[in-house]
Amino acid sequence: EVYEIVKPRYKLFTAGPVACFPEVLEIMKVQMFSHRAKEYKVIHMDTLERLKKFLEAENGEIILFPSSGTGFMEAAVRNTVPRGGKVLVTIIGAFGKRFKEVVESNGRKAVTLEYEPGKAVKPEDLDDALRKNPDVHAVTITYNETSTGVLNPLPELAKVVNEHDKLLFVDAVSAMGGADIKFDKWGIDIIFGSSQKAFGVPPGLAIAAISQRVFEIAEKMPERGWYFDLPLYKKFNYKKQGTPSTPPMPQVFGLNVVLRIIEKMGGKEEWLKMYQKRAEMIRNGVREIGLEILAEPGYESPTITAVLTPEGIKGEEVYNAMRERGFELAKGYGEGIKEKTFRIGHMGYMTFEDIEEMLQNLKEVIEELKKKA
Ligand code: PLP
Repeated sequence: EVYEIVKPRYKLFTAGPVACFPEVLEIMKVQMFSHRAKEYKVIHMDTLERLKKFLEAENGEIILFPSSGTGFMEAAVRNTVPRGGKVLVTIIGAFGKRFKEVVESNGRKAVTLEYEPGKAVKPEDLDDALRKNPDVHAVTITYNETSTGVLNPLPELAKVVNEHDKLLFVDAVSAMGGADIKFDKWGIDIIFGSSQKAFGVPPGLAIAAISQRVFEIAEKMPERGWYFDLPLYKKFNYKKQGTPSTPPMPQVFGLNVVLRIIEKMGGKEEWLKMYQKRAEMIRNGVREIGLEILAEPGYESPTITAVLTPEGIKGEEVYNAMRERGFELAKGYGEGIKEKTFRIGHMGYMTFEDIEEMLQNLKEVIEELKKKA
């Protein structure tokens, strides 16, 4: 009965969770065993090593968290910013706003640098905001804003944050696995992702790289809590080859398998080229249909495209019509753009033929809706 409800019916172009690689689903079926058993330890440590390489984080600590990505927003704030302390939150869409809410709901203060939907953060504006707010402890950046399909220029923004010697927290939930990350070189303090996005693994696991100075600050931070106590996670990586509480083991196995698929494909560069190719195919296809992309030119996301609907057509109508044809896209998301956009995710398991087929159907759907409008 449950299967009848949840069985796969659509080709997924969602914002996440996304379709998983078949090899991932296969390994996730194994019978469970203790997370303190030697077999888990082997996979845990191997996953950390592979992630270090993928994220170019030789100097950082990789942490696997038994939460979704949002858990790391909370962890970043609680471990490094004292109560009442200030954080500069950059906002280019709905997930930047979430970081602000996390800062404030944890009793810290947020100052914001906000843009209209479709825009990316500009380094000169960030520099200016930091000059005006020299007392902030940290800066948050949404690397890829899932609601608008904009990829922020992270290396340039990180440079500015480093010049001001502030902590840098990067929400890479819909970027990690689909956009390049050079943790050491770019000078990041905390960068986190979620399993259910560009790695194509089911939800439930958050993945992060953390700088050593974060642990130095965190160790002295009172009331940082237990579940998201970063120094405790670091200790468990070394002492127990595991996590303080029970990890979502199937997701860790699935992630490990994806990291091996990436290696077999020829490494990170080849894998990211696949993501670029998907994104370009989708953007070109959408433009050929005569639709406009929300992201400002030069900042288009490699993992998700937000598309503006033609006059008289709502994003939800496109979403519903595509679902009827067997394709699940994503609805518009966020203030001011919910109704006039729909989104096409390019994450997880899909073929180039799936993309062509989806675009052909989208063309027909738009033609039909235009006739009705
Ligand atoms: N940040 C971004 C950019 C996201 O896209 C999402 C989820 O879509 C989140 C944060 C929240 O992540 P999670 O649902 O894994 O907590």
